[in-house]
Amino acid sequence: MTERTIKEALQGASFCLHEAGIDQPRKEAEYLLARIMNTDRLQLFLRQDETLSHAKEAVFQDAVTRRCCEEPAAYITGEKYFYGYRFAVTPAVLIPRPETELIIERALAVAGRLAGREGRGLVCADLGTGSGVLAVTLALLLPRSEVRAVDVSEAALKVARLNAAAHNVGDRLHFHRGSFWDAFDNLEPRPGFNLIVSNPPYLGRRALENLPKGVKDYEPVQALNGGEDGLEGYRLILGRLAEYALAPAVLLLEVGAGQKEQIEELCFETGLFRAITWHYDLNNWPRVIEGQIS
Ligand code: GLN
Repeated sequence: MTERTIKEALQGASFCLHEAGIDQPRKEAEYLLARIMNTDRLQLFLRQDETLSHAKEAVFQDAVTRRCCEEPAAYITGEKYFYGYRFAVTPAVLIPRPETELIIERALAVAGRLAGREGRGLVCADLGTGSGVLAVTLALLLPRSEVRAVDVSEAALKVARLNAAAHNVGDRLHFHRGSFWDAFDNLEPRPGFNLIVSNPPYLGRRALENLPKGVKDYEPVQALNGGEDGLEGYRLILGRLAEYALAPAVLLLEVGAGQKEQIEELCFETGLFRAITWHYDLNNWPRVIEGQIS
C-alpha cells in the first residue's frame, strides 16, 4: 500500500467517522492522529503534506475503527484533560467530565475561609475517586492540604495512584479501598474532614437503560449506577457525614439531572447544614450542591 499523507489520512478518517454518525468527525480524526504522532492539531496542519509511516497508519486505522464503534476517544488515547491537567484513563474508570470541574471551582472558593486565619491545611475526602481527578486536582491546587480518596474498585484505585504519582502529589494523597465512608472505618485514629467532595454514581435504573452506546458499552457501570432511583450514593454519603465531618466543613456533591429537590430533602434530613447553595453548570442545570457545616 502506498503511503498516505497526513492530509489524505485525515480526510479518509473524517469520512469514516462521519458515516458512522460521530459528531465533529474532522476534529475527532485530528485529535486521534495528533495523539498517535505525539503532536498537536496545529502541527498536523503545518505538516499535512508529510507521509504517514506504515506503523503510524496502522495504529491510526485501528483508532478510527474503534471510534467508529463509538468507543470514547479517551479510552483509545488513554488520556483526558481535567481542569487543565492530564489524566490517564482506562475502561476501569469513568471518563472525567468538564461539569465536574465546578466542584474544583467551589472548593477553591471555600478553601481560604475553611483554612481560617491560621492558614492550616485542609483535610479533604474524595468519595468515589475513579481516575482520581478530584483528589489529585485538589492536592495540586491546595498544596497544604492532605487528601484521602476512596473507591470500591481496586482497578480504579490503580489508575488514580498512577495519576497521583504522575502529578507528584502521592505524598499528600492517600488511597483507601471501600464504599464511601466505610473505607475509613479501620483507620486509627478516625480521620475528620473539612472538605468533602464526591461525584457519586447517580443514574437510576431507567436512565441507565437509556444511555448512549458510547457510555453503556464502554464506561464502568459501577461508576454510573446509583441504584433504583439513582440516590443510593447520596444516602450513603449523607447518612454517615456526621461521623466524619470536622466543622467548619463544606460538602460538595455533583448531582444528576432532575435530582435537585430529592437531594435537597436528603440534606435537610441530616440536620447538619447551616446553609445549602446550588451551583449551575453551563447548561444552567443545578450541578453541584454545596452544604456548609458550621
Ligand atoms: N470522581 C471521578 C470523576 O468525577 C469518578 C466519579 C465516578 O466514578 N462516579 O470523574
